[in-house]
Amino acid sequence: APLYDLIIVGGGPIGLACAIEAQKKNLNYLIIEKGAIVNSIFNYPLYMTFFSTAERLEIGDIPFNCLAPKPGRQEALEYYRNIHRYFKFNINLFEKVTAVQKKQNEIFEIATDKKVYKAKNVVIATGFYDIPIDMNVYGENLPKVRHYYKEAHEFAFRKIIVVGANNSSVDAALECWRKGAEVTMVIRKNEINSRVKYWVKPDIENRIAEGSIKVYFESNITKIDENQVEVDTPNGKITIENDFVLALTGYKPDLDFLEKIGIKLSDDELKIPVYNSETMETNVKGLFLAGVVCGGMQTHKWFIENSRIHANLIIDYISAN
Ligand code: FAD
Repeated sequence: APLYDLIIVGGGPIGLACAIEAQKKNLNYLIIEKGAIVNSIFNYPLYMTFFSTAERLEIGDIPFNCLAPKPGRQEALEYYRNIHRYFKFNINLFEKVTAVQKKQNEIFEIATDKKVYKAKNVVIATGFYDIPIDMNVYGENLPKVRHYYKEAHEFAFRKIIVVGANNSSVDAALECWRKGAEVTMVIRKNEINSRVKYWVKPDIENRIAEGSIKVYFESNITKIDENQVEVDTPNGKITIENDFVLALTGYKPDLDFLEKIGIKLSDDELKIPVYNSETMETNVKGLFLAGVVCGGMQTHKWFIENSRIHANLIIDYISAN
């Protein structure tokens, strides 16, 4: 088996950015991606619009052609596919990394669900979109409860509850309401999150103010049954008739995997992995982090525009050492 200079775990935008830099420095690399190329974006809601403008999603200095200022999911998929057509990455798709272990000779062994690879360095660029944050309530595992939202049609003419006050929840609530769903939002805090896209925020606030979309602020779901949901509100517990729950309560990186491969996490609830911010190297020599996985539970800290740079930091460091 070949000994790679570098194995990149995750074929998201930042994993690809790392591969571009590695290619420029003639490093012998391989990307291993458990799904399709840019699998997280593939799993976004179908009609989702990015909060970033197109040029802020660019990697490898390749222009992102887009007519509107902000691209949608389709255009981003098109862009990143074209990035692969251009750079012809060495990438294995639909192969999942299950373990990364450093051997006595300082060489990493990377095990997947297919085989074992060897590399001098490993970059973990696995993002955070694979593990939803649970509400931990009775009935959460019923099929009517969803942690990912794709499109509205299924919810048309049905009674739905959307949990959360961030972009995902607000987009889903508005889209479903416009396609004929009866929408109630259940929100832990007392307002729509300030991070909600600036052009969407007035839309949701106006729909709430006019009563088109119902909302319970400072409230939490406490129990989910087949036909109803119990909500704890400031005025006590109420029961709402319900067909579907969209629990868009956020996602988190695979923290167990990071710990299992030897990366230390901060002791607090943020679980921020330990790394040197100048090189992105973790507490394990030769093991690096790139992209949004770096934030631990702080999943809003990193995005494409401010984490593309991780690729340069890592590859400059590897190729100089
Ligand atoms: P990801 O894109 O998540 O890539 C990680 C990859 O690793 C995935 O393809 C995954 O399948 C793969 N992987 C995970 N585990 C393994 C394993 N064990 N083995 C092999 N492969 C594995 N960011 C922005 O900059 N602008 C936006 O407008 C924006 N909008 C967003 C909208 C939504 C709905 C969501 C959920 C996120 C949004 N983000 C946005 C955040 C965005 O997802 C990230 O910025 C971007 O995808 C991060 O890239 P990444 O490469 O770090 O991680």
